Amino acid sequence: MPSLSVPADATVTGGNILSMLAAMGPFRKRGEQILEEHGIRGVHPDQWYPFPAYVAALGTIRDKMGPNTLFQIGKQIPNHVPLPPGLDTFEKVLASFGMAYDMNHAGTPHGVISYRMHDDRHATIVSGTAYPCDFDRGVIQGFFSKLLSARVVVNHDGAVECKHAGGATCTNHVALPA
Ligand SMILES: [Zn+2]
Repeated sequence: MPSLSVPADATVTGGNILSMLAAMGPFRKRGEQILEEHGIRGVHPDQWYPFPAYVAALGTIRDKMGPNTLFQIGKQIPNHVPLPPGLDTFEKVLASFGMAYDMNHAGTPHGVISYRMHDDRHATIVSGTAYPCDFDRGVIQGFFSKLLSARVVVNHDGAVECKHAGGATCTNHVALPA
């Protein structure tokens, strides 16, 4: 398990958790079971839930269902969240990850997702959230697919620290095909 520390009183919106469950599709029941094992049940979109328990549940999904399942769930998330209008350029989508995170989490540091654009088709995203590495990568892939109808290439940088290996951040390089 990643050793990232999440403040014990940090919270996440029910809406976020429900979009993850919806993204599980046919495995939703299994997802609900795993959340319940971590003390999260009867999720309401407008309420807030313990973030450490939610992160632990995602870790269990990874352990029991595999990293690729977690990646696929992340990829489906944008199909199940209300997306603000106007996220229609490479840079706007890059900027949206940090904003969405800050809106949907409390009691945990904000501004922990940063990006740097190298040119109008290449960027690097550094994520210091407590979310598992494979989940992050899926969410990034999914948001670009959904918002720009583009199959971006997302490369996890294995040369720098990784949350799954106990690091504080994960780095993903994003390339938008011409
Ligand atoms: Zn990683």
